Amino acid sequence: MTTRDSQAPDSAEAPVREASSTFRPVAAGMEAHLNVYHPLLDHGFIAVKDYMGDDLSVLQMARMSYGKGTKGTSNDRALLRYLLRHLHTSPFEGCVIKLHVKLPIFVMRQWVRHRTASLNEVSARYSILPDEFYLPDPSLLAVQSTDSKQGRGETLAPDRAAEVLRLMTEDARHNFATYHRLLNADDEGRTVDAAADGLARELARIGLPLSTYTQMYWQTNLHNLMHFLRLRADPHAQWEIRVYAEKILEIMKDWVPVTHEAFCDYQLEAARLSRMEVGLVKALLAGRATMADATSFGLSEREAREFAQRFGL
Ligand SMILES: Cc1cc2nc3c(=O)[nH]c(=O)nc-3n(C[C@H](O)[C@H](O)[C@H](O)COP(=O)(O)OP(=O)(O)OC[C@H]3O[C@@H](n4cnc5c(N)ncnc54)[C@H](O)[C@@H]3O)c2cc1C
Repeated sequence: MTTRDSQAPDSAEAPVREASSTFRPVAAGMEAHLNVYHPLLDHGFIAVKDYMGDDLSVLQMARMSYGKGTKGTSNDRALLRYLLRHLHTSPFEGCVIKLHVKLPIFVMRQWVRHRTASLNEVSARYSILPDEFYLPDPSLLAVQSTDSKQGRGETLAPDRAAEVLRLMTEDARHNFATYHRLLNADDEGRTVDAAADGLARELARIGLPLSTYTQMYWQTNLHNLMHFLRLRADPHAQWEIRVYAEKILEIMKDWVPVTHEAFCDYQLEAARLSRMEVGLVKALLAGRATMADATSFGLSEREAREFAQRFGL
């Protein structure tokens, strides 16, 4: 269930902040998202904690560089779309978003590859991690893809899916039971055996599974956010990170609607063509070739297959 709170739904702390008026740019759509906790996966969530700027802030940055030279694109929407179309990206760096994210560690590992952001993660050296681990929905359990080394293929039969889930659950529960035995503490941090030593938290946690949930505050600017979304809202990204990216896309639409539209039009749903593909497209349009000729334009068999899939040929 979506909740609105200044702190995470499962957090003990609840700092109170007075509502205040401001002279800063305010995006009404983003105000509605502030501190709203959107549940994701089985125990995860995402919430906007803070933001800076709106569509007009991007234009303000752009007009600093264009000055009076914006006459040809004086319309705000047209200028913003022009910026994204021509990869004039620095004006988008003037907008910033800070998110509170709860996610499994294996998703976090993919997320932190995006270096152009600032983050703080919960420390399992300081705190005992709650017994929370990700279990995929049975409908997501699938065999290894045959055409992608990184992807999933056919969904598992129900019997096998049930067995896989049982094994995953047993494994994670066993790991957490060991964690507590090593700590000599229950999940509330209470000592279990007064006569025994507990292992340091920084060591006890090393056997926990990658499915364990962690949390972070993640802050990035709009330019780098779009780069993240281009890679992680893409069908090639792992489903479990894609659900987070898709939720951020929804939030972005409410925050900077004109930028969001231009981003979808010119980047997210756009296609980039190689030199060989450009040659093929020209020949296809002129009726000088068919897809059967694709490799004669320098495309490999695989590239030709991917090209045909992308354009439904
Ligand atoms: C589908 C998919 C599969 C992937 N598979 C793997 C995998 O198997 N193994 C793996 O290790 N990674 C993998 N990655 C991670 C990927 O290689 C990138 O590290 C990740 O997507 C972050 O992209 P980035 O470096 O462009 O982003 P950021 O780190 O946010 O950087 C943004 C841009 O800043 C510039 N930049 C940042 N740091 C540097 C630097 N040190 N030097 C030069 N330029 C810099 C680059 O232009 C970069 O594009 C995968 C990513 C995706 C989306």
